Amino acid sequence: TVILGLESSCDETAAALVTGDRRILSHKLAGQEAAHAPYGGVVPEIAARAHVEILGPLVEAALEEAGVALSDVDAIAATAGPGLIGGVMVGLVTGKALALASGKPLVAVNHLEGHALSPRLADPDLQFPYLLLLVSGGHCQLLLVEGVGRYRRLATTIDDAAGEAFDKTAKLLGLGYPGGPRVEEAAKQGDPLAVPLPRPLLGSPEPHFSFAGLKSAVLRARDAGVYRAEDIAAGFQKAVVDCLEDRTIRALRSAHGATALVVAGGVAANGAVRAMLETLAANAGLRFVAPPLWLCTDNAAMIGWAGAERFAAGLTDPLDTPARARWPLDPEAEKVRGAGV
Ligand code: ATP
Ligand code: MG
Ligand code: FE
Repeated sequence: TVILGLESSCDETAAALVTGDRRILSHKLAGQEAAHAPYGGVVPEIAARAHVEILGPLVEAALEEAGVALSDVDAIAATAGPGLIGGVMVGLVTGKALALASGKPLVAVNHLEGHALSPRLADPDLQFPYLLLLVSGGHCQLLLVEGVGRYRRLATTIDDAAGEAFDKTAKLLGLGYPGGPRVEEAAKQGDPLAVPLPRPLLGSPEPHFSFAGLKSAVLRARDAGVYRAEDIAAGFQKAVVDCLEDRTIRALRSAHGATALVVAGGVAANGAVRAMLETLAANAGLRFVAPPLWLCTDNAAMIGWAGAERFAAGLTDPLDTPARARWPLDPEAEKVRGAGV
């Protein structure tokens, strides 16, 4: 099977052709960093307009590079949420139009499912269930991935996402946007022990994450005026790694039957995070699986792959499927959110 994947939920416009046997025939991606950089973050309206302009040509380029005609595609997979609603609508409406024009089925993909299943695109041996640390710009969760469409959330953040914390720290330190890679670069020149920073919820009996207090501490450290930005960046990154480690160790205790420890989402591109998880997995006697860096941050190959997995399971969606700004992977866990977390 050949699946066309579309992604437009944030500030990456992307189209890719992926096969059910894990071949990536083409993947095209246009970042919008230059458009958003003056604002220090993603401006939803600018993002949506950019998606409108770029997505069509990217789809054509992806088909051409793959040497595939639209009529040869088995299904069209588009991100239907969660994300910035204007952008999500652009990709989903484009997917619907292509589905209608070609007579092929639509697969409405949850962007988080794209991240969650992306390690299986990279690694044919990765079997369900696996413990997934999903760390991205908008999310920080530990999920037991039991199968396609079957996700049990073990932990989430009670305030900021890990990637959000990286982005805010970069902004506070004047390192620019996008934040994660800039903080990682700066941290390489810094001493992680030079600045005392907190590790929120470390050792807590609750399973969850918290990063807001760390961000505030970064602000205080900056305003103290005595620390180098590189040292603050290094201390911040170490604190995030320590928190992710502690919470992942805790989740491993309840992740019965997990065959592997897996990381996905943009923060999975971070070398210190990957190194920590690799050690942790080795100590737990589990395989460690991480997608290649380009597959960690937003892209359309992961959406095409999630589409391929859903299509293989007989899951397609009607053309009136709505775009959703919010769309939890584990609706059960989301219900208790109101009752505390
Ligand atoms: P979501 O997937 O939750 O909707 P998103 O799509 O914006 O959010 P991703 O594209 O998956 O998130 O990841 C982007 C995030 O990853 C940003 O917050 C960015 O700072 C972070 N990130 C990217 N590279 C690195 C890195 N090397 N170190 C730390 N963080 C990084
Ligand atoms: Mg992005
Ligand atoms: Fe993402």
